[in-house]
This record gives sequence, C-alpha cells and structure tokens, in this order.
Amino acid sequence: MVNLLEDLQDRLGLTSLFISHDLSMVRHLADRVAVMYLGRIAELSPSRDLYARPLHPYAEALLSAVNEPDPVAAAHRKRIILKGDVPSPANPPQGCSFCTRCPRVMDVCRSVKPDLAEVEPGRLVACHLYGNTPAAGSTGAPEVNERNQQGVRQ
Ligand code: SF4
Repeated sequence: MVNLLEDLQDRLGLTSLFISHDLSMVRHLADRVAVMYLGRIAELSPSRDLYARPLHPYAEALLSAVNEPDPVAAAHRKRIILKGDVPSPANPPQGCSFCTRCPRVMDVCRSVKPDLAEVEPGRLVACHLYGNTPAAGSTGAPEVNERNQQGVRQ
C-alpha cells in the first residue's frame, strides 16, 4: 500500500494527506509533517527538520520514542516520558493545550494559548518558548497571524 502511494505520487505528481500514529511510516512517506495535540497543530515542519530537531516540546517527546536507525545517534538519544493523562478535547486546558503535561511549562502557558507562528524558515510552532504570545484580539488560529500566512505560502 505504501509503495503504491509513493508510486502514485511520483508518476502523477500527486499531493497526499497521510494521517497516522506510526511515526516511522510518516518519516518514510511525508515531505512535510504536522504534529497534532488535542486537535490543534503543535508543529508544522519539513520532515527532515522535524525528525532531526523537533522544536515543540510535544513533538520532541513523541519523536524521542521513535526507533533511530543510526546506532550512534540512538545511543545519544534520551527518551522523554510524559506524565499525566491527555485532557478531554471537549474540555481542553485554558492556555496551551499541552500545559498539563509539558516538561517545560511556564506560568504564561496556563492562561494564554500560543499562536502557531513561523519560528524558522518553513517551520511553524505553537509554543511560548518561541515568543508566540498572540496579539490582543487574536484567537491563536493560524489564519489570523500574518507570520503564519507567510510560512504556509512557502
Ligand atoms: S506553550 Fe508552554 S506548555 Fe505549551 S508546549 Fe510551549 S512551553 Fe509547553
């Protein structure tokens, strides 16, 4: 099935949206990856950048659990174990959706939802560690942030 998808992409120049919890498969198939938490994008990055150096703390924790084919890199990798349960999507935390489990949580995270904004060329992250505090009146949604719009157009 995966080979068929790749074949179709190559032969017909198709763009496909692949949704999976299998991060090794995503790495194999995708050029660009959106890491989601509680229904929101935590990080949107080119696949090679995300797997080499995830920026969002949730992406960092997720990818620390992926099997690393390079034994040298694997020996230096530290597994990040998240504590706590995933909140209900029907009743998410008031600020950052990840604030109840984030190992790097700060006070602002518990009350202000971070914008999804471009923090490096082609890389969008929703996290206060990168100064993504929304402007007054912003909902935190990608379409209201000018920096996001520039990032998505690339
Ligand atoms: S905004 Fe705060 S709680 Fe959310 S991922 Fe960033 S550091 Fe963690």
